[in-house]
Amino acid sequence: MTTPSHPGHPGYPDHPGRADGAIPQGQIDPMGPAAATDGTLGSGGPADLALQEAARRHLWLHFTRMSSYADADMPVIVRGSGQYVYDQKGKRYLDGLSGLFVSQIGHGRREVAEAGARQAAELAYFPLWSYAHPRAVELAERLATLAPGDLNRVFFTTSGSEAVESAWKLAKQYFKTTGEHGRYKVLSRDIAYHGTSMGALAITGLPGIKHPFEPLPAGGVRVPNTNFYRAPGFVADDLGAFGLWAADEIERAILREGPESVAAVFLEPVQNSGGCFPPPPGYFARVRKICDRYGVLLVSDEVICAFGRLGYYFGSQRYGYQPDIITFAKGLTSGYAALGGMLVSDRLMEPFSEGPATFLHGVTFAGHPVSCAVALANLDVFEKEDLLGNVRANEAAFRATLEKLNDLPIVGDVRGDGYFYGIELVKDKASRLTFDEDESERLLRGFLSQALFDAGLVCRADDRGDPVIQLAPPLTCGPEHFAEMEQILRSVLTEAWTRL
Ligand code: PMP
Repeated sequence: MTTPSHPGHPGYPDHPGRADGAIPQGQIDPMGPAAATDGTLGSGGPADLALQEAARRHLWLHFTRMSSYADADMPVIVRGSGQYVYDQKGKRYLDGLSGLFVSQIGHGRREVAEAGARQAAELAYFPLWSYAHPRAVELAERLATLAPGDLNRVFFTTSGSEAVESAWKLAKQYFKTTGEHGRYKVLSRDIAYHGTSMGALAITGLPGIKHPFEPLPAGGVRVPNTNFYRAPGFVADDLGAFGLWAADEIERAILREGPESVAAVFLEPVQNSGGCFPPPPGYFARVRKICDRYGVLLVSDEVICAFGRLGYYFGSQRYGYQPDIITFAKGLTSGYAALGGMLVSDRLMEPFSEGPATFLHGVTFAGHPVSCAVALANLDVFEKEDLLGNVRANEAAFRATLEKLNDLPIVGDVRGDGYFYGIELVKDKASRLTFDEDESERLLRGFLSQALFDAGLVCRADDRGDPVIQLAPPLTCGPEHFAEMEQILRSVLTEAWTRL
């Protein structure tokens, strides 16, 4: 396993930008913005230079080695349309990552943008502190209808980290309110990403992005993830046994920590970080039983897996388990505005529904009226275009197209579900040998990230676990987009192999 020498970006690798600034022929989309020739933005003239200079001086990119851009241009994406985005030179890129697992309905949807504009004109802002506004109520009701089982109550946030943070805070206050004062710990899986605010970071299982911020809030406990490709020897040949072992490790951790001290288990339906680990059969059923046995809350962190990514509104529905809390963000608005939140069961709300009891938590922009209006319009598009149906109808073709890459010597494993895939890269297929830190640095940061981007594909090359390429395209994609991804990946990965 390679340890990142810097905090790898949760969504994008470092893109040093194309040094020569050239646009590969054949990549200019006639439907994209025409490259200007008059010195304005997109002409390669003064406006472009000024934007780069301003970006270099003033903009701080997230999880990015800013030194990469000391002598190179930052990639600047200026617009999007459908499954594609365009840079300032008019070059087109297939958005194979939905921005950052966000753009479910694709880019450039007027009806969704206009819903936001209408709401801003009617009521741009009012807080959810003591007041309600119509769009928050309508959206909460709609989400409760879509959610599994008794998840009926919505607490909005603005982001995924805030959603995770809120879920942990709710678990803590819930147990204090109901007399189980010792329950504060949270279990989560190795290499899992659950956000970057201090609480969410304590739940995150990536040592490399935690160390600079320690000490973090106490109580984060790690359990094994469900990476079957790298399963321990005694369960390596039996997916079912592996899943039960991984679930039982949660029970062992609860017993080790003391059940009276454990508040919640945070799990993604498909774990993103590490490269898309779907749950083995039986895993979540067993985890649910274990949580019930010890009175521990099961939090399904669906910041990526909700809203169609796996062909269902919620990932837990695909795998048939009932969480106590679902955290969500990203796809709820398809990125047309920022919004997150958590859906909680009636049972968790109960202690807060009488007398002076209050969940002592809130943020100013949570459930912003514009974001809620946008989310409602986004869900309308889901319904009108049957996007869940599109994912379910095409996911087998997506898998089959990506699995063609298995004939390349560098491809070790292709895994995922729905429109959410990881491709693990290896140095030796037979032994599953991975790259050392140096090779990983040369391969992923030195070549692959940039080469894939240059070839017109937005995806993510990441080595926070073993080196993987991740794909999560808009839910509107079909076979022609899968083929485009496969062709770009094939040519760039073939070239990567020759460079090793
Ligand atoms: N949880 C999961 C599972 C995530 O994937 C992410 C973001 N990728 C987060 C939480 C944090 O979300 P945000 O970046 O919106 O704070």
